[in-house]
Amino acid sequence: MTEGDSLILGIDLGTTNSLVGVVDSGLPILLADEHGSRITPSAVYFPMSEGAPVVGAAALRQRAVDPARTVTSVKRLIGRRPGEGDWVPPYRLGELGTSAVDVSAQILAHLRGVAERAMETTIRRAVITVPAYFNDAQRAATKRAGEQAGLTVERILSEPTAAALAYGLHRIDERKKVAVYDLGGGTFDLSILEMRDGVFQVLATAGDTELGGDDLDRLLAEWIWAQFDVGGRSGFHELPAVPRARLLEAAEEAKKRLSSSESHTVELPFFEAQRNLHVVITRADLERIARPWAERTRTHCLRALTDAKLAIGDLDEVILVGGSTRIPLVRQVVAEIFGREPNTSQNPDEAVGLGAVIQAGILSGSLRQVLLLDVTPLSLGIETFGGLMNIIIPRNTTLPCKAGEMFTNAVAGQDSMLIRVLQGERELAKDNWELGQVAVPFSPGAKGSARVGVQFSIDANGILQVLARDTVTQVDTVLEIQGTAVDVADERVEQMISESVDFAFEDMNERIWTEAKLKAEELLPAVDAALAQAGDAIGAEDRAQIVGAADRVRKVLADPEHSSRLLKEATQVLDDATQSLAVILVEQAMEASLERRGLL
Ligand code: ADP
Ligand code: MG
Repeated sequence: MTEGDSLILGIDLGTTNSLVGVVDSGLPILLADEHGSRITPSAVYFPMSEGAPVVGAAALRQRAVDPARTVTSVKRLIGRRPGEGDWVPPYRLGELGTSAVDVSAQILAHLRGVAERAMETTIRRAVITVPAYFNDAQRAATKRAGEQAGLTVERILSEPTAAALAYGLHRIDERKKVAVYDLGGGTFDLSILEMRDGVFQVLATAGDTELGGDDLDRLLAEWIWAQFDVGGRSGFHELPAVPRARLLEAAEEAKKRLSSSESHTVELPFFEAQRNLHVVITRADLERIARPWAERTRTHCLRALTDAKLAIGDLDEVILVGGSTRIPLVRQVVAEIFGREPNTSQNPDEAVGLGAVIQAGILSGSLRQVLLLDVTPLSLGIETFGGLMNIIIPRNTTLPCKAGEMFTNAVAGQDSMLIRVLQGERELAKDNWELGQVAVPFSPGAKGSARVGVQFSIDANGILQVLARDTVTQVDTVLEIQGTAVDVADERVEQMISESVDFAFEDMNERIWTEAKLKAEELLPAVDAALAQAGDAIGAEDRAQIVGAADRVRKVLADPEHSSRLLKEATQVLDDATQSLAVILVEQAMEASLERRGLL
């Protein structure tokens, strides 16, 4: 197997831009093409002649000149039947002899090439992201495009989930709710995620497939044109294709500049006849234009919250995704909508790509340490008397960690204890997974006289060490378990958790029964012994009552019905009935002791 076989690409196949990356030596990285760019425009140009299709920035440059042969935003068409959706492209795929899947495959093959060049090896596997709202047909078509590009698609990942991974939110506590605000080139998506049982669930999505940075470019281009064309001779839309494209390009450039500077000058030499276009635009100008545009996202945000049945205050985090969220005004609008500052710790236009890379890294095992070692995926414990699971380290405990408990012998004269190390969420030991077992010897004594401390510790490498110490002899027994304590496949974790939920009721009943049974089984021989020792000291009636109560306990114990309630009641009656006997026993014991010491 060459190195490339184990590599899995993470790919953000965007409407406007696409990114590719890989985990290299444990670090998730996005890869640059030969021009040093990590962002590839999702554009394919089909030259008139035999020439091969051109992908990326070079294709985009052809759009102004040859819009009918330049395919952009093909993601809007993938997995849809002709006529489905209301977006009408400025090109006809049929006339170009291609399809949405083909074009997507060309983009993916280009990205694969970028990665292979950077990593100097062939790569055949990938994780590809799609919007959360993509249906099965759209996901399947995306997968097919990947296969056509020579890639085995290991997973189709939702974009907001990828973004949450990039923001490191998989490390936050269970049940945290996150709003993912994704404003890209042509689309706006708002997703609400909840971290549940270690995986993100999409609670709601909302958005507008006709709202993005492109719209702002158009508004800005119109404004620039109006500044230039003072007389108002013609509208922006009446301009010929080439000058219009030049203006749009300049507007986008100005918009991007104004995300970091306060003012920008648009210069287009020989824009019209001999006239040069020279327009100064300030951030305040842009913000005036952009305000209503950015405000259009508000209703979608509120809508998604309503769908998720959440109030704004229920959100724990708002993260920004998409190039357009680099605009300071957009960040301000987001803060206004959600009443809190959004998390801006990641590059918004790279977050989805980075998340895809992280997911790919997890799948290939190259990111195992980063991800899986931070918490225990399932509870760890040992089997105790009666076949019950005794949890020592609960699930989701942050690593490294250490915890322990004292145990004692259940049977007199016992000289060793078998420690079965278990993993899982079920109440009964038999339903959990056994990771290993070890016999711990101790000095035999009366029931309950042995003291064995059991300590679990998991180090940063995920190695579980079980240490059992006989506190009398100070002898230690150590069992080491590699990996399995923390490294469990997601599906198995999910299955264990869902079973624990499904069987919660039965499991609980079983545990209550077992505990009641242990108590009854402890009480019965004690009562027999007490009767034998002091039975003569109580009246016949009391004696009959105790014997009857004990028989009742035995009967309920033997009843296959396993009614915890009846058993508890019967045990309680027996306990109460033996009160007088217990008093007598204590008195007898005191007398004996005083006598021994010659005091009586
Ligand atoms: P998509 O997810 O739609 O493929 P992106 O997330 O890459 O696209 O967003 C592309 C959009 O982001 C474009 O409209 C682009 O102009 C805009 N954009 C990129 N960088 C900036 C910036 N610095 N300031 C403002 N807008 C930006
Ligand atoms: Mg995107």
